[in-house]
Amino acid sequence: MNKISEILEGVKTVGIGGHIRPDGDCVGSCMGLFLYIKKNYPEIAVDVYLDHPKEGFEYLKDFGEVKMETGGETEYDLFVACDVSSLDRLALTRDCFDRAKETLCIDHHVSNPGFAKVNYVCPDVSSASEVLYGLLEPDKVDRSIAEAIYTGIIHDTGVFQYSSTSPETMQVAGELMKTGFDFSKIIEESFYQKTYIQNQVMGRVLAESILLRDGKYIAGYLKKRDMDFYGITSADLDGIVSQLRLTKGAEVAIFLYEIRTQTFKVSMRSNGAVDVSQVAVFFGGGGHVRAAGCELQGSMHDVINNIMDQIERQQTMESLD
Ligand code: AMP
Ligand code: MN
Ligand code: MN
Repeated sequence: MNKISEILEGVKTVGIGGHIRPDGDCVGSCMGLFLYIKKNYPEIAVDVYLDHPKEGFEYLKDFGEVKMETGGETEYDLFVACDVSSLDRLALTRDCFDRAKETLCIDHHVSNPGFAKVNYVCPDVSSASEVLYGLLEPDKVDRSIAEAIYTGIIHDTGVFQYSSTSPETMQVAGELMKTGFDFSKIIEESFYQKTYIQNQVMGRVLAESILLRDGKYIAGYLKKRDMDFYGITSADLDGIVSQLRLTKGAEVAIFLYEIRTQTFKVSMRSNGAVDVSQVAVFFGGGGHVRAAGCELQGSMHDVINNIMDQIERQQTMESLD
């Protein structure tokens, strides 16, 4: 692999951007790279763009410098997309990406088509943050950079639980830990902690969830009017689909919420028996074998039925293989 030092040779300006509705890995990888360049390449002017990241990540150094809009005619020598599975998922910065002299993508989605000029896409790696770490020089990773990368890894592995966690993931986490940050606090406050309202909403979704096909699948949902009632946004719904997936006997958990009238964001989690990334790709989305997402239009019941049909069709095809 070309190390980031080679990629940055001769580069004077860098823009960094993540995906829409940024999650922990997106924030962690973007901030990790931002802080790394700032610290080790002071001669390079670097900007990081994130589309309204959650306040819960404010412990990350220089989080206040994150830009939430692009400023006109910026033409970067290099633009880096982190944790972005396809160009249409790049948030805020499509114009910067298109105008940049060089583009780089650091990612781990199986569905990534390799949309940048240089692509470091490793589908077997836990997180874009772990892929990023592989490009950095370990002795140049200080505590604040380590905090960002560690944040990304814990979010995308469910705190080292999901099957994407490898021995290498643990080694990277160990190296990061040596810089001496308060990992318990990061895990508790950025991953597990919920506001009272977020817990109430999760409770409601779980209480109203439905079992399908004799409990092989479980679906939870939230309509727009309910989200408005609680005064919440998509950022408040983290963890709900993972909790649904923990239902004994369920092979796939589906969680849908209405982002616009009759348009649903669908999140899917699988225990491995079903490749939900294929289901998501069928509907124009993407993701990983065990965690994927897409958007569908129609009534809630139509959306659930369409997803179910596609899951079953995919399983039938697999059994014919
Ligand atoms: P989510 O269910 O939103 O937490 O997403 C699960 C995984 O699927 C993440 O890795 C996302 O980046 C990916 N993903 C979610 N929605 C989409 C989409 N519409 N298109 C492509 N990838 C997606
Ligand atoms: Mn992500
Ligand atoms: Mn990721």
